[in-house]
Amino acid sequence: MNAVTPTDFRAARRIAAMGVSEILQITFRASAMKRAGEDLIVLGAGEPDFDTPGHVKDAAAKAMREGATKYTPLDGTPELKAAIIAKFERDNGLSFCPDEVTAATGGKQILFNAFMATLDPGDEVLIPAPYWTSYADIVLICGGVPVIVPCAEAEGFRLQPAALNAAVTPRTRWLLLNSPSNPSGAGYRAEDLQGLAAALECHPGIWVLSDDMYEHILYDGVPFATMAQASPALRGRTLTMNGVSKAYAMTGWRIGYAGGPSALIKAMAIVQSQSTSCPSSISQAAATAALEGPQELLAERRASFQQRRDLVVNGLNAVPGLRCPMPIGAFYAFASCEGVIGRRGPNGTPILSDRDYCAYLLNEAKVAVVPGTCFGLAPYFRVSYATSEAELVEAVARIAMATGRLQGG
Ligand code: PLP
Repeated sequence: MNAVTPTDFRAARRIAAMGVSEILQITFRASAMKRAGEDLIVLGAGEPDFDTPGHVKDAAAKAMREGATKYTPLDGTPELKAAIIAKFERDNGLSFCPDEVTAATGGKQILFNAFMATLDPGDEVLIPAPYWTSYADIVLICGGVPVIVPCAEAEGFRLQPAALNAAVTPRTRWLLLNSPSNPSGAGYRAEDLQGLAAALECHPGIWVLSDDMYEHILYDGVPFATMAQASPALRGRTLTMNGVSKAYAMTGWRIGYAGGPSALIKAMAIVQSQSTSCPSSISQAAATAALEGPQELLAERRASFQQRRDLVVNGLNAVPGLRCPMPIGAFYAFASCEGVIGRRGPNGTPILSDRDYCAYLLNEAKVAVVPGTCFGLAPYFRVSYATSEAELVEAVARIAMATGRLQGG
């Protein structure tokens, strides 16, 4: 079959400067190598390797059989909204009315809806780095300007009030917080959030988007904290976002949700009404069951992730040249490769950046990881440990072996 040659194609300015996400490119390249028969371990994916719980699948099948196959109310069925409200009350001590919560096609669509509904061209969104790569591109697509604020490892990869103040301009509309964080696994305690809230008191026009997607993947008994709860004074300008993708291993079902002031929720519904009309009716039934059903599995899965975290972080820290801070949540390790920069591979190729090091690991160790540059902070690399312990043991051994073969430094 011949491919059609596009004539005169021109991408819109809003996406012309954007490539396909580098994480996806690494994943595609790794998948192609795997298909070609290479024995590759891919630690790039951002999804749990567990299955969606059985009772959630049953609820979806029942909904389908009982005719829940039509459009639903715009931003969530009454049942899902009730489950979201109960979840916020149970887990976060936050009370919302139905017109203060919204459901969308994944957490990603919540971000799109919020930024589409609020950003005028040139409006700025503060994004502490390292950050989930999609944030910057979503802001750009919505006509905003991502303002990246680097957060050093020495500060636990957490935004400090002074750095926040320094980054604010008259165009700042939002501060985007993500805790526990993809990619660093770092998290904010209530007192950290209160420090940021105190700084925000001087900037009443700035709203906070709290991405709590990894709320339930938090280790060592660290209590979860979110801005609207830590600082009730900011509730009137905070959107608290969450979803079922990571907590309940439901990435493919595509349900995210949020709670916030009704004026914002209403504006987000207008955006959604002209994009997807509503999230999938069947997925909404599944998400309702996930939020309302037994929650014990969260602790079981957390324990399993914590074991994998320890394995990976301790393994990486034993490799001369690497340094990996202990993450408190999510399923990512964010390690520094500063110590190997300037070394050379066995064939003389210099390692000049985290990108070079990750390319070296892909080619020499047959392990795919993602350079910190993709997340706005170098020289680091992200390891997703949402895979089996056996594979992680092998991956760490390969990384150690390949890094040991680097010369110089
Ligand atoms: N927020 C963070 C920090 C994420 O890592 C992800 C997914 O990787 C999302 C939001 C989006 O999740 P969803 O699958 O619900 O769109």
